[in-house]
Amino acid sequence: MSPIGTDRISRWDQHGREHVVRVRRRGVRRTISCETCGWHRGAPLAPWPKAVEHLAGAHQATVDPAGPRRPSRRAAVDRL
Ligand SMILES: [Zn+2]
Repeated sequence: MSPIGTDRISRWDQHGREHVVRVRRRGVRRTISCETCGWHRGAPLAPWPKAVEHLAGAHQATVDPAGPRRPSRRAAVDRL
């Protein structure tokens, strides 16, 4: 993944709404938080898989705006 954009993970749901999970760095630790529902948790290693998992699981948001617009749930998860 490119370093640019790693602090913001966005996915669209089936209704075209954007859901964003932000990554905050505190020293060596990272915290990810969802702007839609306030969900947050620590992500010491790779924040992406947990963020994508939350977006897909909690908001059914699996469409990557930067990627191919395919309404496939598996694609977004399998890539990580
Ligand atoms: Zn959420």
